[in-house]
Formats: sequence, C-alpha cells, structure tokens
Amino acid sequence: MGFAGKVVIVTGAGRGIGKCIALTYAAQGAKVVIAEKDQSLGETTLQSIKDFGGEALFCPTDVTKPEDIHNLMAETDAAYHRLDILINNAGIGITKSPYELTVDEWDLVLNTNLRGTFLCAREAAKIMRRQGGGAIVNIASTRAFMSEANTEAYSASKGGIIALTHALAISLAPDKIRVNAISPGWIETGDYSELREIDHLQHPAGRVGTPDDIARACLYLTHDDNDFITGANIMIDGGMTRKMIYEP
Ligand code: NDP
Repeated sequence: MGFAGKVVIVTGAGRGIGKCIALTYAAQGAKVVIAEKDQSLGETTLQSIKDFGGEALFCPTDVTKPEDIHNLMAETDAAYHRLDILINNAGIGITKSPYELTVDEWDLVLNTNLRGTFLCAREAAKIMRRQGGGAIVNIASTRAFMSEANTEAYSASKGGIIALTHALAISLAPDKIRVNAISPGWIETGDYSELREIDHLQHPAGRVGTPDDIARACLYLTHDDNDFITGANIMIDGGMTRKMIYEP
C-alpha cells in the first residue's frame, strides 16, 4: 500500500476511531506513535500492535498541554528521525444547554479539539518540512455543518477544524505538507451488534459507520499517490448530511 516505514502519529489512539486508525497504519507496515493521555489505554493499543509484529511507540500525551505536544514531537523525532503523517483524532464533547455551559467547559472542548489540533499540526509540520513534506488529517465531524441541540462547544470546535484545515493547507503547501479533514457521521465504537434496525436503515447507505470506514479514508488521504488532494474535507456519514428529513 505504500506505508511501510512511514512514521505516523495518531492522537487519541487509546480507543475508538483513533485506536482503529493506529492499528490500520501499523498493519500497513508504518511505525505508529500512539499519543494518548490515558496510560493503560495507550499501553493496550501498543500491545495490540506488538501482538501482530507491528512497530509502535506509546508517548503519553494530553493534547490540551502544549508541553506534552512538544514532548510528543521530540520523542518521535528522537526515535525515528522523521514524521510522515499526523492524524489529529483526539476529541471530546460536552452536551449541555448553552445557558448552562461554563467557561471552563467551553475552554476544555475548544482546547482539546481545536487548539490541540492546531498545535499538533504546527509542531509536526516543523519536522515534516525538514524532510521535504508530509500529510496531516484532522478529524472533524458532520456536526461542523449540522446540529442537535446543546452541542455548541463541540460544533464550534469542529467547524473551527474545517476552517483550520484549509488555512493550514495553504500555509503549509510551500513545504509540501498536505492538510485534509474527515467529517465522520455516526461511527459506532461500542457494540455494533446492539444497534437497532432503524439505526442502520435511517442511513442512505443502509448501515451505521465503523471505525474502519474512517481508517480507510485516512490511508487514502495520506497516500503519496494522492498528492493532488489538499484542503479537502471528506464527509463519511452514509449519506446522512445529504438526506431530506421531511416525513413522506
Ligand atoms: P472516543 O471518545 O471513543 O475516543 C477519543 C479518544 O481521544 C480517547 O482515546 C481519548 O482518551 C482521547 N482524548 C480525549 N481527550 C484527549 C486529550 N486531551 N489528549 C489526548 N487524547 C485525548 O471518541 P471516538 O473514537 O468516537 O472519536 C474520535 C474522533 O472522531 C473525535 O475527534 C470525535 O470528535 C470524532 N468523531 C466521532 C464520531 C463518532 O460517531 N464516533 C462522529 C464524528 C466525529 P481518554 O480515553 O483518555 O479520554
């Protein structure tokens, strides 16, 4: 596939979509740096990769802490002397009425999802430009474009990621660094077998998404062959954002 020997950082790789992305790159022969704030989750992902003979490094990282991000890049550089791909996946949401959301809660969501994405991208780019290029994927959300009630901080952070993605794509283009976004819809990270028929059938694609749907798109966007793609956002939502919701 063309990822053998590539060095890839995945933030929030301890569970869910991020873990799947980390395992997917490792299975393709990449060297994966697991950037996760929870020690035991990070170690579990590391062990899963080692179990099939993959190459990985766990670097405990809280993306709300700029010093952790600096340390993540320094450790990656020290271990592998390069960085080819960054997947900005770490994210949190707080569902709460806008009348009650505290400033600290707003800051936590924005500092994790948006500031964390920016700082990781900037620090990663410093290594990538030294070696002549790289690829960054920012995980946004369909909630950047449409909303349920009481999701202001999350939606704003994801909308910010979409704008940040095209801004970085332009700024980093001279350094041959491509920056793209993926906006997942409903991606089930729990027990898929527990989903109801209506959960699947409401999607034009006929099913709820899986972490593998997102991991495959990361491979596509970061493959060297696809170097005409930068500043793009791929909606991966089984068609939900294209569906009229009027009752028949
Ligand atoms: P999960 O909550 O299952 O996983 C998020 C991961 O990010 C966890 O490993 C979590 O670590 C980590 N994380 C959270 N905060 C930080 C931090 N400050 N520093 C480092 N790591 C952190 O989420 P999903 O797998 O469902 O989602 C992954 C991404 O995809 C997120 O950005 C999310 O917004 C986005 N997304 C998901 C959708 C879905 O349907 N699942 C839909 C649209 C977008 P810990 O366990 O320690 O908290």
